[in-house]
Amino acid sequence: MKPEAGPLAERLARLIAASGPIDVADYMAAANAHYYGTRDPLGASGDFVTAPEISQMFGELIGLCLADSWQRAGRPDGALYVELGPGRGTLAADALRAMRGAGLAPEVHFVEISPMLRAAQAERVKPAQWHEDLSTIPDGPWLAVANEFFDALPARQLVATERGWHERLVGIGEDCFVPAAGPRMPDSAIPAHLRAAPRGTILETSPAALGVVRRLAHRLAAGGGAALIADYGHARTSAGETLQAVRGHEFADPWQAPGESDLTVHVDFEALGAAAAKEGVRIFGPVEQGAWLTALGIDARAASLARGAPARAEEIEAARHRLVAPDRMGSLFKMMGLASSGWPGLAGFA
Ligand code: SAH
Repeated sequence: MKPEAGPLAERLARLIAASGPIDVADYMAAANAHYYGTRDPLGASGDFVTAPEISQMFGELIGLCLADSWQRAGRPDGALYVELGPGRGTLAADALRAMRGAGLAPEVHFVEISPMLRAAQAERVKPAQWHEDLSTIPDGPWLAVANEFFDALPARQLVATERGWHERLVGIGEDCFVPAAGPRMPDSAIPAHLRAAPRGTILETSPAALGVVRRLAHRLAAGGGAALIADYGHARTSAGETLQAVRGHEFADPWQAPGESDLTVHVDFEALGAAAAKEGVRIFGPVEQGAWLTALGIDARAASLARGAPARAEEIEAARHRLVAPDRMGSLFKMMGLASSGWPGLAGFA
């Protein structure tokens, strides 16, 4: 490995040289643990920009949607705001402000691995409690949110060869990592409609994402509540490689410099929804983010913000457009809702 590939590349190269290739999920897990553990990746000076960093309207509408559900559920006591991967805490601050306007002031619980981002969250949201995962969050009706969280969880890659489907394993090449077909997978591991895919087709699955959504749904089913999951991805399980690396707002090579760029895969909403439904919650959507924000009233909110700050009218309209336009974030990004059986349907999914 070249020295500029960074400290993690060197460690992984030594590990692979000593004990053989690792699967793509382990590679992605190591890369993102290092990446999120060592920097604040968000914003203009970071590597990428997310919806809540573009406009306060995003978090406000999420907060209003969850507050509306809570009101129609009969305003149960002890509701908790639960956010997975809250970034800088911007979404939570906007959502909680909107909730307060609707008479809801939940306790705040964050699931976050990055010490740097925990500090950023603590500045914006007071008081809050932090967790490594969902297991230590108290019971009670949960109002849960995850924006661009599931895409960062490790995914495996399977590749079709002339001799069936194989797990893809990451080995070492001249000066970067190289994925190649590893052990054969049983056909039963592949969705029926993809078994005869052409050679070279890649299928991604994230056992980690399915595990988290299952645990989230389980807690919603037990204690009541609702969740909104926003991310880029596809509504139907489909083949194709979506693993991507982003660094300094540019695409990078995922097989170089692991831990120095943000690695993501598109979220398979069909698989997430099916895993959650098995725990007994109801699933809403996914619908495209642009349609959901529009149904929730982003146009009226933008107009009202612009009236309050005429000097910023153009900026507000540009942010609204970026969030909803199909050729920007409006179409690739999707919104999916979960609700426990005793709770009403979530707004915006009709
Ligand atoms: N939701 C924020 C940030 C998205 S980036 C926004 O929209 O701006 C992904 C977030 O998930 C970061 O906060 C990152 O530190 C966190 N994260 C990534 N992997 C995680 C894991 N395995 N457990 C907990 N948090 C994780």
